[in-house]
Amino acid sequence: EVKKNGKNGYQFYTGELNEQLQEKIELEVDLRQAISRKQLFLNYQPQIRAGDGQMIGVEALVRWNHPTKGTISPGVFIPIAEETGIIYELGTWVLREACRQMKEWHHAGGPQIPVSVNLSSQQFHQSNLAAYIKEILEETGLEPQYLELEITESMMMDASVSSSILNELTESGIRISLDDFGTGYSSLSYLKLLPIHKLKIDRSFIRDITENNNDKAIVATIISMAQHLNMDVIAEGIETKEQLDILMDNDCKKIQGYYYSRPLAADDVEEAFFAPMRLLKQKA
Ligand code: C2E
Ligand code: MG
Ligand code: MG
Ligand code: MG
Repeated sequence: EVKKNGKNGYQFYTGELNEQLQEKIELEVDLRQAISRKQLFLNYQPQIRAGDGQMIGVEALVRWNHPTKGTISPGVFIPIAEETGIIYELGTWVLREACRQMKEWHHAGGPQIPVSVNLSSQQFHQSNLAAYIKEILEETGLEPQYLELEITESMMMDASVSSSILNELTESGIRISLDDFGTGYSSLSYLKLLPIHKLKIDRSFIRDITENNNDKAIVATIISMAQHLNMDVIAEGIETKEQLDILMDNDCKKIQGYYYSRPLAADDVEEAFFAPMRLLKQKA
């Protein structure tokens, strides 16, 4: 009877679902406090120029050091942050921290490379996005050309909306990269209309590229299209030498993936990639 059940809405769920829901509610409660308790941190995954192995950029990837559950990956908590609106505060924190760290590296004599930051759809559609990003850049001192925003095709669905957002962002020098490219449902026509600097080939096309000729054809086509549109192109999820060779054969010069490096803690980026900074630290 409905009235009896009203007191406990969860009794419709089976035990397992109930547990999952409970877990999610707990995470949500904890996530609300994660920023102020300084539990979030960023990893940085190097982006490499295939020809000479030079690091040409890093992607900032958020992690959550949960007090009892250990490190939680963004695949778990970003969806919760998006559902609950926590993403606005979280996204601002990520942007500020990524810009601060990159400016610190530039200042300390590290390579003058950009940092890429992932944006959620909700952040992208925030009315004051461009203004607060400019504020963060001014506050941290990072020059706009060293910030690259990673957005996805689904955010381009309404071209008139996205073009005004993107124009505002790129007018100041910020760069735009289309993440997970090839997995969305939007039309290609926006590529010629919108200020997009880089296509990031999704790793689902890379995974089987050594055996799957369809994947190989798609990747080759994306690379060629990017070149014809005068856009940068990078492949993500490169794990093996064989995958790398196919990309290089197809003239894709920029690579991100475990083959070169997993996402690293800031200290480990310095250790592994910034020779001048290592020397400075040894002297100090
Ligand atoms: P993404 O932006 O496509 O990031 C690439 C993901 O692929 C990262 O997972 C990275 O660790 C992983 N990856 C890189 N190279 C390889 C490889 O060679 N093999 C395999 N198997 N995986 C590789 P991560 O860090 O777990 O992030 C997952 C997703 O969470 C990201 O996908 C992005 O959509 C989202 N995300 C991460 N950080 C943020 C953030 O600060 N804000 C927002 N809104 N989303 C974020
Ligand atoms: Mg990304
Ligand atoms: Mg991606
Ligand atoms: Mg993704």
